[in-house]
Amino acid sequence: MRILITGGAGFIGSHLCDRFLSEGHSVTAIDNLITGSTRNIQHLAGRDDFTFIKHNVSEYIFVEGNVDAVLHFASPASPSQTAPTGYLQLPIQTLKVGALGTLNALGVAKAKNAKFILASTSEVYGDPLEHPQKESYWGHVDPIGPRSVYDEAKRFAEALTMAYHRTHNVNTRIVRIFNTYGPRMQLDDGRVVPNFVGQALRHEPLTVYGDGSQTRSFCFVTDLVDGIARLLNSDEHDPTNIGNPNEISILEFAKAINLITDNPAGIKIVASGRTQGDPQQRKPDISKAKRVLNWEPKVKLDDGLQKTIEYFAKMV
Ligand code: UDP
Repeated sequence: MRILITGGAGFIGSHLCDRFLSEGHSVTAIDNLITGSTRNIQHLAGRDDFTFIKHNVSEYIFVEGNVDAVLHFASPASPSQTAPTGYLQLPIQTLKVGALGTLNALGVAKAKNAKFILASTSEVYGDPLEHPQKESYWGHVDPIGPRSVYDEAKRFAEALTMAYHRTHNVNTRIVRIFNTYGPRMQLDDGRVVPNFVGQALRHEPLTVYGDGSQTRSFCFVTDLVDGIARLLNSDEHDPTNIGNPNEISILEFAKAINLITDNPAGIKIVASGRTQGDPQQRKPDISKAKRVLNWEPKVKLDDGLQKTIEYFAKMV
């Protein structure tokens, strides 16, 4: 297959490039590099089966030749209040890539008669009132809050994807991605994993926002990529959660990272650190992925963190 990956120089996108190349497919990555980096794909330079196009997919996408699958992964994704690559600093770009970028990517899939996967997010559930979150839950999202630029863009992207499926019969899939971590996250993107690991490696206290009682469930990137590859091979058109259901409070998570890294500096509570709408709890219900894709995550948190720490140790 020839696979087109928008956001192909990003954290998840670049791992998808590796995965599909390793299966013998050819890959074209498109990225405007506002949050992605050529560092993530430099090891692929010069390969005959890999092409990189620097382009903003919110503008018309022109690709020559056949395309068998379009994976739409371009978007800022960090909710950090301060990081320049977070969606709060890129609100219009985030809305545009969710809306216009998805429209253009679906247009390519329709024109080329290709399969399509939308990278959606657990953020479509907002600050959830149902726990854990099943695909059938409609969510609890503030349509005008600061996080809405991401949440509503992805909700619109899901609606558009289903409309192309129902109206134009495009062979679409939607993956709702929960917190994912691993090598190639940006050290300064402000999310909890790079922040904590960077701080621990510099022997600084870990900045726990609020009281740290909020929970997340962290999935190692290779597990996520495996779920996405299975989804591409399935016939499932409705949204599918992919994530690790192993839930942990942010305070416990900080303690775990300090333990693994032998960080003597401890924890610093930053009471005002949480963004408005920061979900209090998040954990995927993955019974559908188990049933339909025969998928579940395999990498244990300690092992995934070890690999992530090794990567960041080279960057700090
Ligand atoms: N967080 C934290 N310290 C940090 C960065 C994040 O306590 O230095 C918290 C943040 O408030 C949130 C959780 O960690 O409750 C996960 O945040 P992240 O930015 O990784 O993404 P989210 O899961 O909110 O999309």
